[in-house]
Amino acid sequence: MKKDFIAEALKQAKIAFEKDEVPVGAIIVEDGKIIALAHNHNLTLKDPTAHAEIVALRIASEKKQTSRLDNCDLYVTLEPCTMCAAAISLARIRRVYYCINDEKFGAIENGVRFFNNKSCHHKPEIYSGFSEKEAKELMTSFFKNKR
Ligand SMILES: [Zn+2]
Repeated sequence: MKKDFIAEALKQAKIAFEKDEVPVGAIIVEDGKIIALAHNHNLTLKDPTAHAEIVALRIASEKKQTSRLDNCDLYVTLEPCTMCAAAISLARIRRVYYCINDEKFGAIENGVRFFNNKSCHHKPEIYSGFSEKEAKELMTSFFKNKR
């Protein structure tokens, strides 16, 4: 089950890749059901905040008609950045599952480690290291094409 959700997030990352967006995908699951599917939209929306996680949180909140996603879990292909970590905390996401670390912009295991900060009032459970090979290959081939 968890594996299927990771696979769905990776599918979203591939859609982003095909659109020439940074290949990151995110999905939100509630009671075993996917309620939001999203990928990076920075270029398409001309919006610097349109990371996969933010787009997914917006879709889920709209669907549930609330900004509190207490019983929801987020699956994302890359370690969330500071902005997304803060948004995840504000939305009160229950668990975060992510594939690979982002040494440059990641804010969970790297950088500011947002959830360990005292200005963070809700810390989700964190699980990482899923489908690392596939997620990494996607990022590597994307940035290789950029050079
Ligand atoms: Zn982000």
